[in-house]
Amino acid sequence: MSLRLENISFTYQPGTPFEKTALSGVSLIINDGDFVGITGESGSGKSTLLQVLSGLLFPFAGKLCLNTEVINPGQKKSLNRLRRRVGLVFQFPEEQIFELQVYDEVAFGPRNLGLSRSKVDERVQEAMNHMGLGFEKYSLRHCHSLSGGEKRRLAIAAILAMQPQILLLDEPAAGLDYEGRQVLLQRLDYLNREKGISIVMVSHHYQQLLASCSRILLLDKGRLILDGISSSWLEYL
Ligand code: ADP
Ligand code: ADP
Repeated sequence: MSLRLENISFTYQPGTPFEKTALSGVSLIINDGDFVGITGESGSGKSTLLQVLSGLLFPFAGKLCLNTEVINPGQKKSLNRLRRRVGLVFQFPEEQIFELQVYDEVAFGPRNLGLSRSKVDERVQEAMNHMGLGFEKYSLRHCHSLSGGEKRRLAIAAILAMQPQILLLDEPAAGLDYEGRQVLLQRLDYLNREKGISIVMVSHHYQQLLASCSRILLLDKGRLILDGISSSWLEYL
């Protein structure tokens, strides 16, 4: 499976005094098994890029393609096909945790898909396990009682329960302590290697990206100025 952007541009509040072009002429491809890092200064367009890739932001100029299909996020069917394959985890887990209890939070997506109770249960257990949230210990806990790192893993588990093929994460390690970051990165690495889920992760920590990613994208003022591992990255090691 591949997710491709062809010459994408995106402008916030076009035609107003607040008009702001956040992405210009970005082309890239995410292939099966990729572990891609996105970096760049604050305001360079990283979050906007993730939102375009997940179908959350439109309209934009250029093309978003899933395999050979051109996706129009303005059309429900097209968007649903994209959503089934691509999961987005926001930067602040609080923004996407809606339920009181951990179980219900992770079950939300599978229930929406209309799966049977036992299928929902299976998916919840599997997703929680992948994120190191033991089912017995956590399923009845209140979401708001979890630590920052646990909330982050819960938000990811809720997306994983939808069984995406591509997982997009906005600054997943932000605000976590050293150990929290290591646990999270190991889990992502496992999902990528063992489950074949493509990972696209935004971070402003080059070291973290260099350690985890097979490719790094560098954005500068909305333009993609580097795609790959360049020798110039090595100075950050
Ligand atoms: P990054 O994630 O790299 O910090 P963003 O994608 O959040 O960058 O933002 C890119 C640019 O778009 C920034 O200049 C930001 O101020 C602007 N921007 C982001 N969201 C909005 C919005 N809702 N309305 C207007 N401008 C926005
Ligand atoms: P900031 O996000 O402003 O860098 P943090 O508290 O996240 O602040 O990080 C503090 C220090 O820990 C940073 O100087 C950074 O070098 C290091 N650090 C943070 N996150 C990571 C990471 N994921 N991998 C390696 N080093 C990190």
